[in-house]
Amino acid sequence: MIFSALFERRFWCRYLCPIGGMNGLFAKLSMTELRAQQGICSAECTTYQCYKGGPAKGEGQDTLGCPLYSHPAQLEDNRDCVLCMTCLKACPHRSVEFNLRPPGIELWTTHQPRAYEVALMFLLLGAVYLHRLPEIQAQWGLSLPVDTLAGHSLVSLILLILPAGLPLALEALYRLLRWRYPTLAARSFVKLAYGYLPLVWAANLAHYLRLGLLEGGRVLPVLGKTLGFTEVPWPFWMADPAVVAFLQGVTLLLGVLLSLGLTGKLHRQAGLSRWGQQGCTLIYGASLWGLIVGL
Ligand code: SF4
Ligand code: SF4
Repeated sequence: MIFSALFERRFWCRYLCPIGGMNGLFAKLSMTELRAQQGICSAECTTYQCYKGGPAKGEGQDTLGCPLYSHPAQLEDNRDCVLCMTCLKACPHRSVEFNLRPPGIELWTTHQPRAYEVALMFLLLGAVYLHRLPEIQAQWGLSLPVDTLAGHSLVSLILLILPAGLPLALEALYRLLRWRYPTLAARSFVKLAYGYLPLVWAANLAHYLRLGLLEGGRVLPVLGKTLGFTEVPWPFWMADPAVVAFLQGVTLLLGVLLSLGLTGKLHRQAGLSRWGQQGCTLIYGASLWGLIVGL
C-alpha cells in the first residue's frame, strides 16, 4: 500500500515482491507471449496508448494503459507482462499480437540474464528442500537441531543456500580447468544457470500439487466450521493420493527433461561444463523424486 501510494504501476510487484519475481521467472517458460510489431509502432503510432492509456481512438478502446508500464514492442521476455490484454484493447493500429511459441524461446534468443534472478531461482529450489525437511531427516536418519529458533534458522539458511552450491562448485572447477587449459571456451554462468529453471518450476509445482489436490478441496468445510456452521454438509473434494503421486512424478520428470534440453540449448556445444550441469540436474531431479514422490 505504501509503495502504491508513492509510485504508480505496480512498483511493488515489479521490483520488490518475491512472488512477483517468481511469477516473472516462471513466465519466461511460457508457451504464449504478447508482443507488438515494432515496424507498425515506430512508423504509425504517435499516441502510445498501449502503455500510456488514453481515450478511444480508431479501433483502440479507452483504457488506463499497461498496469506495469511495459511497451509491448520492447518486451524482451515475459517477466514484465501479466497478459492482462489492456494493450491489445488500447492499440489503435492492430499492432499487438498474442502468439503461441516454443516454451521459453527467449531464454536462448533475446534474453538478458540477471544474477539476482538466478539467485532467486536457486532460493526457490532451496525452499522446496526446506519444505521437505521432515522427509530429509527421515530418509537420511538425521536429527537436526530444529527445536530452537537459532537452530531452525541456521538449518533453514543452509538448505536455502545449498542448491546453488553444486552448480557454483562445478563452475569454479570449470574456471580452474580453463585457467589450466585456455583453449576451453569461456561461459557466462548466469546465462547458463537458467537451464535449471524448468526443474525449479516443476519442483515447486510438484510440491504444491499435494496441497492443492488434497487440502485445497477442503477449503469450504474448514471455512464453514471456523465460522460456526458445523452442521452444514459442506461439499469437499480430494484426489486419491496415488493420483497426486503420479502427477507429481510426471511433473518432475517433465521438469528434468526440459532442464536437460534447455541446458544443452544454452551451452550450444557439448563439453565438460554442459555435462557437469546436466549431471547436477539429474542429481537434483533424483533427490526431489525421493523427497516429493517418495517411491
Ligand atoms: S502497440 Fe499500438 S498503441 Fe502501442 S506503440 Fe504500438 S501501435 Fe502504438
Ligand atoms: S498484456 Fe497487459 S501487462 Fe502485458 S504488455 Fe499488455 S498491457 Fe502490459
